[in-house]
Amino acid sequence: MEKEKREILLVALGGNALIKKGQAGTVEEQFENLRVPISQIARLSKRYRLIITHGNGPQVGNLLLKQESCDRVPKLPLEILVAQTQGQIGYMIESTLDSEIMKQRITPQRPLVSLISYVVVDEKGPAFRNPTKPIGPILTEDEAIALPHPTIKTKKGYRRAVASPKPITIVEKREISKLIDMDFIVVCCGGGGIPVIREGRSFYGVDAVIDKDLASAKLAKEVNVDIFLIATDVRGIFLNYDRPDQKYLNTITVTEASRYLNEGHFPEGSMGPKIEAAIEFLEGGGKRSIITSIATIEDAIEGKGGTEIIRG
Ligand code: ADP
Ligand code: MG
Repeated sequence: MEKEKREILLVALGGNALIKKGQAGTVEEQFENLRVPISQIARLSKRYRLIITHGNGPQVGNLLLKQESCDRVPKLPLEILVAQTQGQIGYMIESTLDSEIMKQRITPQRPLVSLISYVVVDEKGPAFRNPTKPIGPILTEDEAIALPHPTIKTKKGYRRAVASPKPITIVEKREISKLIDMDFIVVCCGGGGIPVIREGRSFYGVDAVIDKDLASAKLAKEVNVDIFLIATDVRGIFLNYDRPDQKYLNTITVTEASRYLNEGHFPEGSMGPKIEAAIEFLEGGGKRSIITSIATIEDAIEGKGGTEIIRG
């Protein structure tokens, strides 16, 4: 009985949980950084059934840079690189969580599992007609022309551009639900999931990246998560962010959030998808939706930090 009653908490870890801005991103740094959110998540495993999702921007960027720098091995498509990052980051999260649970002598010890996850996208959707998401290393104009992929001119230079389609459904949602019911802590949907298209009963990987916050919101809805928490590198949401008149928000209603989103307070490449994800979760029947920093996950769940998006 007790296990049926524990609420399900989904924590979506941002890229900075592993590599902070300005760091080289060595394995040692990544393990060290992970301790901050993971030690809190270990304690939360006593009270909640848990799902952890995560970003993969810097990691997949490094893999792309490696393969752009080497012609001696065949190049791998993006879907394989995303799968690689799910494996490497899943391993890092799982092993850090395992050691925190042992160190803090947390009982009962929940079993852990990391899943390779696919997410279905619509290949005929608008995202594929106009790839807008910059990924991989900065290129010169000549390198960009030589690249066998679409490119985009950013402030820093040319980069490869891929489609960023909306997630339609998480392929492993039933398996994830079962694992949660069996009390597993599940790490999944890394990097927003491996984008696939469905043809009959088969799936094919496609060259695209899915936003991890939107994929997490989709998963949260599909497996009936109670609390959806997005952990990033700011303590919560601001209006007029990074300006002298910036204003921190403890709570914000869905109506206000949509209005501020339209007014441009939440940019597309960063805070925008988090707000969209929080709104989608609440509108789909979710109970609580919180955006906070990786250092204040526990406080935010207690209502003592972060921004809570509320219905209304
Ligand atoms: P993650 O890797 O966690 O997805 P992002 O860099 O994509 O992180 O998004 C978090 C960033 O959003 C913050 O570091 C902050 O610079 C930026 N940001 C943009 N607008 C806002 C806002 N209105 N309030 C708070 N942060 C904002
Ligand atoms: Mg992001």
